[in-house]
Amino acid sequence: MIYLDNNATTRVADEVVAAMSPYYTAVYGNAHAAHRLGRRAHDAVEAARADVAALVGAETEEVVFTSCGTEGNALVIRGLIDAPHERTKIVTTAVEHPSVLTLLRALEQRGLIELATVGVDSSGAIDLDAMASAIDDRTLLVTVMLAQNETGVIHPIAKIAEMAHGRGALVHVDAVQAAGKIAVDVRALDADFLTISGHKFHAPKGVGALAIRRGLKLTPLWYGGGQELGLRSGTEPVPSIVGTGVAARLARKHLGDFDRVRALRDRFESSLSGVEIHGSSQPRLLNTSNLTIDGIDASAVLRVLDDAEICVSGGGACFSGKTEPTATMRAMGKPAAVRFSMSRFTTDEEVDATLSVLAALH
Ligand code: PLP
Repeated sequence: MIYLDNNATTRVADEVVAAMSPYYTAVYGNAHAAHRLGRRAHDAVEAARADVAALVGAETEEVVFTSCGTEGNALVIRGLIDAPHERTKIVTTAVEHPSVLTLLRALEQRGLIELATVGVDSSGAIDLDAMASAIDDRTLLVTVMLAQNETGVIHPIAKIAEMAHGRGALVHVDAVQAAGKIAVDVRALDADFLTISGHKFHAPKGVGALAIRRGLKLTPLWYGGGQELGLRSGTEPVPSIVGTGVAARLARKHLGDFDRVRALRDRFESSLSGVEIHGSSQPRLLNTSNLTIDGIDASAVLRVLDDAEICVSGGGACFSGKTEPTATMRAMGKPAAVRFSMSRFTTDEEVDATLSVLAALH
């Protein structure tokens, strides 16, 4: 089997599995218990928090563990709406992850926010003039992803943050796809909130993190024991948090490996003929290749790859043999596409084998 769907999720690194194991069998205390087993679990959670903070350039005290990227995004958006606020407008883009876009649309429908959704051009670049006009003195929050999950296009967050802060609005960055693939620094981005998710960088599923600029207040999504600065009540999943800390450390150590991944991705793309590669004129994640093959429906490509035991991602529903484009592809004015996303574990041989299967399609 060849796995080229690393933007969907990643294999848990061996070092991560090894580090988690003792926290299931020996150090299984509740991280909030006062006894020694609890204190050891607590210390492990705090060490992981420091590692995750370092991955995104935040202070350790600014990081709250969540269950996933979806929860981190919801905690920021709902946490601001549920807190006392005077401004009610939220500005976002048409290519955000559904965890942001569908939530914002639901809040808009319920009359809780005014929503402005800024479009992108055919290369996936955000319309910055439209963004500048959309952000005004009523804007509470501007929420924009750092790297787009389907195309890998990297957005100019620092520029957008300058526009937002200039109007007194807060800035949330969904960095779920970026963390572990490119350097992420919450200060350089000038973000007030930044979301990541462990399973995108070789940690287990079930742990995300939200960096919250010191001094900013959110209302929790639910109430209980007051864990995670009172923002995320519920007994912490200590083994998974420990694993996420180790994965964050490994991600920083292996960031340079993405030079090799980029070379692989570029060789993959330049070996293909009769394809359109979406977002390729923009700054892009080094591991992502999103493409349409001339004259061949995305669903047919996906079927052939699946038969060859090659895992990639399509997105979009299939209607009577023709695949509908995803919301992101529609926003770019593009047809349904196929996403290949590599990791530091992807090999030359896997890329060669994938190229042979694609070559046979023509
Ligand atoms: N944001 C982006 C950009 C994503 O790509 C994803 C997952 O694909 C999420 C948020 C949601 O993350 P999670 O799966 O951890 O909830």
